[in-house]
Amino acid sequence: MTSVSARTRSSRNSIVELFDSSTNTSSCGYCKGTKATDGRQKQNRGAQGDSSDLSESETSDQEPETSIALGVWGHQLTAGGYMGFINHGWRRSGRYLYKPIMARTCCPQYTIRLDVNKFRLSRTQKRVLRNMNQFLVDDKRPSMKINENGCPNAAGDAQEAKNRQEKPKDEPEKLESDYEKPTKKKEMRRKRCFEKLAARGVDIEQFKRDRAKKEEARQRTVASYILPHEESHKHRLEVRLVREGSSEFQDRYDEEVDLYLKYQMAVHNDLKASRRGFEGFLANSPLVYEAGDDGFPGYGSFHQLYLLDDKIVAVGVMDLLPLCLSSKYFFYDPDFAFLALGTYSALREIEFTQRMHIERPELQFYYMGYYLEECPKMKYKGRFRPSELMCDKTFKWMPLEKAIGMINANNNRFTQFFPDEERPGPPPLDDIRIICKDSTTMAQRLVSARMYKMMNPDDREFEVTLTDYLDLAGPVATQICIYRSHRS
Ligand SMILES: [Zn+2]
Repeated sequence: MTSVSARTRSSRNSIVELFDSSTNTSSCGYCKGTKATDGRQKQNRGAQGDSSDLSESETSDQEPETSIALGVWGHQLTAGGYMGFINHGWRRSGRYLYKPIMARTCCPQYTIRLDVNKFRLSRTQKRVLRNMNQFLVDDKRPSMKINENGCPNAAGDAQEAKNRQEKPKDEPEKLESDYEKPTKKKEMRRKRCFEKLAARGVDIEQFKRDRAKKEEARQRTVASYILPHEESHKHRLEVRLVREGSSEFQDRYDEEVDLYLKYQMAVHNDLKASRRGFEGFLANSPLVYEAGDDGFPGYGSFHQLYLLDDKIVAVGVMDLLPLCLSSKYFFYDPDFAFLALGTYSALREIEFTQRMHIERPELQFYYMGYYLEECPKMKYKGRFRPSELMCDKTFKWMPLEKAIGMINANNNRFTQFFPDEERPGPPPLDDIRIICKDSTTMAQRLVSARMYKMMNPDDREFEVTLTDYLDLAGPVATQICIYRSHRS
């Protein structure tokens, strides 16, 4: 990969490079290729116009390569540029940006997000917060194990794809059971109570409104559970945000890597986990840091360190972007699994997003990556309510419950949540900027994609890749420069 010149870098544009073979097929850790063999997905494939045939790989001894995504290399991305990618269904793993080709991949995954202003704690989530406090104050360990349903796996990305191959240990509990729904008995009691009040001449509607107000006041926020440290406490927990690449980040780098390796080994049985792997996956962001101010750390890539008695016990890797906090990965010390750190950290990240929202009002969403309805390990993401899934046709958002209903009704095939609405077409070639070298002067030039095609009529590979990319990226492509290295 040729590097882009320093002059271009400093211009602070988002720059990606397309691979010659843009679609990336791999074995699927969710269905192990079983879904592509039943022909359900095949019906949907025609529209994308790619010649690769799933059935070819099915004949090999290996698991068939049924997971299909498009990938590009991120040389540098502004926070706004990456935000645009995310809102069109992309994710990043290190500098590799990818998007599942929804109509062709065996297990379509939808981008999931939560509006932190509307977030409500479930009963289990409150218990996780209380358990942490009891541990900090009295060194008391919870007597009841919290079923996180794969939560420590954290946000979806390429690494998750590797990790997701193990079977979940527990079946997911019913979503509904976690929320405070009145029981039948309770409802009957309430009804009788209302009847008595009505008999006494009380205005029932007014009574209900007053009660709802009191209920609202009782709704506790995550922040209200966070205990300030006191001398008498047995443990001290500090959640510290460090910017990727900063000196503070470097200071604790080795400690972080050691924890990562311990986690990958113990929790995911990942024998290939390495220091280099950590570097490429979690410490090599293409995001250009944009400095903030007193109350706001800036836009870019950060690691949130969970320091228990000044020792790192967990790390949340995240990107702070104009509209959201995008959770990328989370790993923890398996010795502290009893604290349900996967859930705990997601709650702290939601609380952090709520604080950032005060500083930057447009920043109000918490993104947890991809959601796959059929995967029990991803169900935990749906527990942070009320969440929404992105429609891959219109790039609009649908409330999670309704989206899941539509996916189920469609036999878990790729589902468009707004089927009757138009999909934005690929942007015109005149609006796409390409950084390339002039073949005679060898000077670097910025040209439109139309101009590039005229200058390089033989670069057919690029033409094919560009078509695929523009089709998947949609409108965001106009905000991004494409770097094309020189072909001799
Ligand atoms: Zn699959």
